[in-house]
Amino acid sequence: MHTETLIEKMKQTQVSDFYTSEGLHIYFKDKITNDEVDPEKVISKVESILPHHLRSEVEMIIVGDFPEFFQNGFNAFYEGGTVHVTNEQDSNEDMFDDIIHEFAHSLEEPHGYHIYGDGKVKDEFLRKRDALHSVLWKNGYKTPKAFFSNTEYDKEFDLYLLQNVGYDKLQNYAAGIFLTTYAPTSLREYFATGFTEFFLNPDGHNYMKKVSPQLYKKLFELYSEEGLDV
Ligand SMILES: [Zn+2]
Repeated sequence: MHTETLIEKMKQTQVSDFYTSEGLHIYFKDKITNDEVDPEKVISKVESILPHHLRSEVEMIIVGDFPEFFQNGFNAFYEGGTVHVTNEQDSNEDMFDDIIHEFAHSLEEPHGYHIYGDGKVKDEFLRKRDALHSVLWKNGYKTPKAFFSNTEYDKEFDLYLLQNVGYDKLQNYAAGIFLTTYAPTSLREYFATGFTEFFLNPDGHNYMKKVSPQLYKKLFELYSEEGLDV
């Protein structure tokens, strides 16, 4: 192979780790498949949008292909100080979304008592699940109500919404109840999707306050460090 071509090729396949000025380590297990995605830009946006105190749990972001993604149909997951995010991204926005969502999960353990301790977000979530159940029932999706009363992640429930109902239709059925189609999946996802909306869509705060007042209150407190044990 011609030397210049070889250098060109090396440039293309190079995956270089980097640290942000704030000490976040970005590690590429696998190369990002889409050339239009600029991870440095994405991470710098994450650091500019999330206040420092909401980033303190995450030490590293690993970009790559993980068996968990294939097994569960996930794009990302959080575990022990590390955000794992897929190297297959449609756009910068797509990657940004995934990462903010996992930062939300990183906060559930240190701030779990604050978020869930008084049961208000859970009550709100269950009322919404009830409302969604009624809408679906009226539209011919007849499932036992008990199926909608488990707040934990349940793969069967996740697939029910994703495949049996389908997110296209769910978007209409859930309008005015849940802000996104993934929000009804579990109590934790209700929190994480709300967190993501809060930071991605500042113009939507009034609407969110109206639709999910309890969740909004908790998110605002997290954001403004009100009543947190920090
Ligand atoms: Zn999640």
